[in-house]
Amino acid sequence: MTSRAAADDDGHRPAADDDGHRPAADDGFRPGAGAGAGAAAVAREAADNGIARIGARRLAVIGGSVIGLACAWSAARTKLATEVVIYEPDESGPDGVPAAAAAWVAGGMLAPFSEAWPGEEAVFALGVDSLRRWPDMLDALEPYVPPGPPVRTGTHTHMLAVDEADARDLDMAMEWAARQPDSTDADLRRITRRELREAEPSLARVARAAYRMDSEGAVDNRVLLAALTRACRAEGVRWVRSAVTSLDDVDADRIVLAAGSGSAELAGLPVRPVKGEVLRLRARPGCEDPPRGVVRAFVRGRPLYLVPRDGGLVVGATQYEHGDDRQVTVAGVRDLLADAETIFPGIGEYELAEAIAGLRPMSPDNLPFLGADPTDPRVIHATGHGRNGIALTPVTVAAVWAALHAVRGPAAARAAAPDRFARG
Ligand SMILES: Cc1cc2nc3c(=O)[nH]c(=O)nc-3n(C[C@H](O)[C@H](O)[C@H](O)COP(=O)(O)OP(=O)(O)OC[C@H]3O[C@@H](n4cnc5c(N)ncnc54)[C@H](O)[C@@H]3O)c2cc1C
Repeated sequence: MTSRAAADDDGHRPAADDDGHRPAADDGFRPGAGAGAGAAAVAREAADNGIARIGARRLAVIGGSVIGLACAWSAARTKLATEVVIYEPDESGPDGVPAAAAAWVAGGMLAPFSEAWPGEEAVFALGVDSLRRWPDMLDALEPYVPPGPPVRTGTHTHMLAVDEADARDLDMAMEWAARQPDSTDADLRRITRRELREAEPSLARVARAAYRMDSEGAVDNRVLLAALTRACRAEGVRWVRSAVTSLDDVDADRIVLAAGSGSAELAGLPVRPVKGEVLRLRARPGCEDPPRGVVRAFVRGRPLYLVPRDGGLVVGATQYEHGDDRQVTVAGVRDLLADAETIFPGIGEYELAEAIAGLRPMSPDNLPFLGADPTDPRVIHATGHGRNGIALTPVTVAAVWAALHAVRGPAAARAAAPDRFARG
């Protein structure tokens, strides 16, 4: 099942033109576009292509969470617009980051393989494209990471199933993932119980099936938000601290809509809020070490994950179709703790530091909406990322950047065209 492809990622660069769009470099954080020098190179390349001349005077980004911040940073660092402004009313987190946003709540997993499911070919392809862009985005962000823990918190994932039915589902999903054309460079393999024990000695011996994926892992979503905020500030991005009630009222040449579950109201997109709860646990002296990498499991048919964090771990996540409800329920906490203890018995000694809920901005087909609005070309959609908005941040940036320049974006993003439901 394991295979390795060439290390170059030229597959992510816009291909030869076949639809009237000019091919161009993207801001997909590819090798060579990293750090400060990389940003300058991207800007130079844009200017050489004449792209700077078609840029906007004023670019407004609606929503200042992970997607909005990353798109604003990309536009500012490549000198796309004279002025980049983020509209974001929520500044309740440290350093003004939005603490009610889904990105603040999230587990931070970069998980196209462990989220793989038959029938979701386009979702998988988009996720794999984005996963390959993460190392370059992390390089580019490095100068802005605040002192303290790094952005990247896990570099591999173990997936396991506890009962027979869950093991069958896991085998089926992983075999499907391994057959996908985009799996070619995936370090995905079925492992024995003994291999699992050696890799993660603190886990209970309950797995009936286990897989390891070497290049997934996770980021610390809160450190990521802090670094993106600092990167935006360094590039002169400004904030307007109010909610937008109508896109018609926004004074800008171009608008990037990145308002998460608030996007439905603004653009009539089929994005619905799907509630999820997570727990944050802090290690106490003498307690069992947390798992070394991300652990994903099916326990009694329920999905569960343990994500390592500096000094602890995140346990997630529940999923409910309850509309705009961000309250943490007793049943949610009970189920998460019971399932987590089945996998990781040492959890009882940890401090329960936080229980929090957020709203995933879900679309009907689990793909986001990426690209120009079919009726208002001033508006570029970057929303509806559902369970995977952190993971999909780099490919979203590349797609938005291409849409703003009217050049061809990542091939995998085409399935996420905003007019796909209107087309039937
Ligand atoms: C429990 C949970 C666990 C998750 N785990 C993961 C994970 O492990 N990996 C992963 O990749 N993803 C995960 N996600 C999903 C991820 O958090 C989202 O997909 C991602 O945050 C979407 O980013 P966003 O910037 O589009 O939206 P959000 O993070 O929701 O932010 C939207 C922002 O828009 C602002 N806004 C809304 N309306 C307006 C308006 N009218 N005007 C101006 N601003 C507005 C809001 O204030 C908010 O700050 C998880 C989500 C939840 C809830």
